[in-house]
Amino acid sequence: MAKRFVIIGGGPAGNSAATYAARLGAEVTMIEKDIVGGAAHLWDCVPSKAMIATGGALTLINHASSMGLTDVSASLDLDALRDRITAIRTRLESSTTGLLESQGVTLVQGTGRLVSANRVAVETDTESFEIDADVVLLSTGSRPRLPEWAQIDGDRVLSTRHAYPPKVLPEHLIVVGSGVTGVEFVHMFSSFGCEVSLVVSRQQVLPLKDPEVAAALEEDFLRRGVRLLKGARAIGLDRAEEAVTIRCDDGRQVTGTHALFAIGSLPNYESLGLETAGVRHDGGYVVVNHNCQSSVAHIYAAGDLSGKLPLSSVAAMQGRKIAEHAMGLHVGPHRHIDYEKAASAIFTVPEIADVGLAEADAFAEGRKIRVTKVPFSANAKALIDEDPRGFVKIISDPATGVVLGGSIVGRNAAELISVVALAVTAGLKVQDLYESLFVHPSLAEAISDAAE
Ligand SMILES: Cc1cc2nc3c(=O)[nH]c(=O)nc-3n(C[C@H](O)[C@H](O)[C@H](O)COP(=O)(O)OP(=O)(O)OC[C@H]3O[C@@H](n4cnc5c(N)ncnc54)[C@H](O)[C@@H]3O)c2cc1C
Repeated sequence: MAKRFVIIGGGPAGNSAATYAARLGAEVTMIEKDIVGGAAHLWDCVPSKAMIATGGALTLINHASSMGLTDVSASLDLDALRDRITAIRTRLESSTTGLLESQGVTLVQGTGRLVSANRVAVETDTESFEIDADVVLLSTGSRPRLPEWAQIDGDRVLSTRHAYPPKVLPEHLIVVGSGVTGVEFVHMFSSFGCEVSLVVSRQQVLPLKDPEVAAALEEDFLRRGVRLLKGARAIGLDRAEEAVTIRCDDGRQVTGTHALFAIGSLPNYESLGLETAGVRHDGGYVVVNHNCQSSVAHIYAAGDLSGKLPLSSVAAMQGRKIAEHAMGLHVGPHRHIDYEKAASAIFTVPEIADVGLAEADAFAEGRKIRVTKVPFSANAKALIDEDPRGFVKIISDPATGVVLGGSIVGRNAAELISVVALAVTAGLKVQDLYESLFVHPSLAEAISDAAE
């Protein structure tokens, strides 16, 4: 009899596990309460990047004179932008649903909950029923973390989920939170022409990133007129009819027309029945081993709920590995996920991307590394594209030449980092990078130059 594989949550982790498990012969049921594609398509990756792409187009058009064009200008139509985001979501939902159905996955629109280690209760709009499961995957994702005092109203005080796009364009937006999500929203709204202030609780934006990378972004924000309140932790909010004031712990205040909170996320675990099924968690994040198995061996967790790297790409890879493991393919070609080799990007301008070992971490560990760096101002394609900001940095082992990591700041960094990610994952050497014949002129040439 085919293994009954029940998945609660249809984001990147759930979808990928469903597809691979079905291909490997499981009888798969996936329960999703909102849209197939998950928060990644509905609230996070897709709408945020769609807004950033529109802001990028607007910036490019309004700076067309530097490319030798005259009389070109554009302005933002919020309704058209909203329609564009809906259209992208709908297309992605339909292609993801089509793929799952073509693999024979049964999709249930409803809410799932464990009622024992082998049984899942489902509630839809019209009925309640229970399903037996040999394998369960919990992939219910996360939601924005918000301070109790935030007074979110979706109108002037926003969580990230109210921003795609907001009802009116803020005249002056205050962003609270300077991690990846916060800086992406700063970039997005400043590219729409809004005045933006950023409350930065530490002394640098992107506190977990390489200081040189963070400095490049700060410089660009300041050039665009973004106000940075560094070393200021937001502790309160005051509302007036058309104004929002954020109070900080050092006594500073900043007043704008809108505020947006981007201070992290919380796992969606409360109504999953974890205790009933004997699944251990730590603050709501399911505790998993290197196979993503929970304390109950046939109950897996993946994606944001697993407390590993909160990235769509990681969630999807976990889903695939779980399908392989649960279906007995972990002997042979199966490799565990090495989270330290996950590439990640920040879709600001300049774009920021990195993978593998960071320079600052290597120094902190006292590890010997070779760091080589080339600025895009020396790259022909960057000059042709009128965007010579940023650099490529390659980190390698001085003894063996093996590529250990890299950072890229600049146009298309999110695409370019894939070359370095491949080198890191495959254990390639700097020589493999600088002896590869890259296209000329291309931004990728900066990678081979930096490797030399
Ligand atoms: C603003 C923002 C931008 C981001 N941009 C990027 C990016 O550019 N690149 C990137 O890699 N990552 C990005 N991320 C992170 C990424 O969105 C998440 O890491 C990813 O969505 C996690 O996938 P997941 O499978 O865990 O779940 P999710 O995508 O969160 O999906 C979980 C699903 O489970 C459903 N669900 C929850 N409870 C139940 C239940 N009881 N029953 C049934 N269904 C349930 C939910 O409705 C949801 O659809 C971003 C995050 C944010 C906040």
